[in-house]
Amino acid sequence: MRTSIFDLFYIGIGPSSSHTIGPMRAAKRFVVDIETSGLLAEVATVNIFLYGSLALTGIGHHTDKALLLGLLGEEPETVDTLTINKRVKTITDNGRLLLLGKQVISFYPSSDISFLKRERMMHHSNGLYFIARDDTGVILKEEKMYSVGGGFVMTQEEISKKFISHLGHDANVINPFRTGKDLLDLCISKNKSIADIMLENEMQRHSKEEIEAYIDSLWAVMQETIDRGLNTTGILPGGLKIERRAPDLFKKLKTNFMPDGGAEVLDWLSVYSIATNEENACGGRVVTAPTNGSAGIIPAVLKYYDKFCKPLDKQSLYTFFLTAGAIGFLYKENASISGAEMGCQGEVGVACSMAAAGLAALLGGSPANIECAAEIGMEHNLGLTCDPIKGLVQIPCIERNSMGAVKAVNAARLALKRTDQKISLDRVIQTMKETGEDMKAKYKETSKGGLALHKVAC
Ligand code: SF4
Repeated sequence: MRTSIFDLFYIGIGPSSSHTIGPMRAAKRFVVDIETSGLLAEVATVNIFLYGSLALTGIGHHTDKALLLGLLGEEPETVDTLTINKRVKTITDNGRLLLLGKQVISFYPSSDISFLKRERMMHHSNGLYFIARDDTGVILKEEKMYSVGGGFVMTQEEISKKFISHLGHDANVINPFRTGKDLLDLCISKNKSIADIMLENEMQRHSKEEIEAYIDSLWAVMQETIDRGLNTTGILPGGLKIERRAPDLFKKLKTNFMPDGGAEVLDWLSVYSIATNEENACGGRVVTAPTNGSAGIIPAVLKYYDKFCKPLDKQSLYTFFLTAGAIGFLYKENASISGAEMGCQGEVGVACSMAAAGLAALLGGSPANIECAAEIGMEHNLGLTCDPIKGLVQIPCIERNSMGAVKAVNAARLALKRTDQKISLDRVIQTMKETGEDMKAKYKETSKGGLALHKVAC
């Protein structure tokens, strides 16, 4: 078992985990490897080639900016989001970049980053190829990498071995599981909850205090993101001229602007998820859960629990994240959480499934109820395509998170009342994988099909 909650949930920047965070990490990793080889002082130029989905939707997903930040040595978790545009403009204007903040090279983003829209690398749609040369043009280092979803990065060699790279976790764990059935069997044989099983595994890498502090920090950032989204007006960047909706919806909700027919809860789920995804669309600070495109679902469901079910205490928070993390792990290991591989079922579908499982745990569900909630959460997202208009993580992504949050609550509630589950979570994950593989490339984060072909009145 290699995927930890520290890998699935992390503090990063928008708008995309696979197209923003992954490329930033890949660029930094490439340059750090050069420095480790003692060659950094010899580098005069770097060329970057983007393939497949990264080439087709990279501009809308800020892939070019992310690459520059990675070359500068920045991390998604800590980069100052308020200075990004200014720093990118300085590099573009001057044609110079300070690799890792240490080595000046010539770098013109418009010519040194190539978007190869008709080409695809062998192993994955999100391919990157880096080349560093000295001042005589001799190649010092070249590397092919892949951004495989959720901010995970793999080299050519690693992807061949299916080795998760970005944090390098590969510990043997006390409770190994690979499938939902393994997980349920463990819960029964050890008489423990899914969260307990996951916690024991995490504790082989981190102390309990570290795990809890990490979850606390995730929740703090999720709430900050929601608060910013609820209170920031303006137009989303990228050219679709979409006005941010969360502040107005929030204002109306606070004044009970319309008869709700008992459906007020839907509006609250929507406003929380939209607030997060509008922040994500602006390149703001968000928690990847498990991707940026689907970052609004889990925070919205947690806020829903806190507002409508029971005040969210620390123990409930830990239970939620550990449970949702266990479910996310099953998708990561047995299918994919990449929109470029699975379509949106791999992002919004997975987030919905994880949130449904976490909520079912908080509502007192047994491990079997939780597995059922996760199954329902994905079952009704099967076949969901990824077709973002103009390659921006806005339409359909922002509203889609609101739908995902609503479905997650419904899935948890249905699962808690269900006694005759016919389809297992393992079966639905396998179906999602097969469906994603069967899906035409135009529906997998290429903006070449579906809604992406429709003109939007701007
Ligand atoms: S449609 Fe779904 S998978 Fe595609 S970019 Fe939007 S949120 Fe991500």
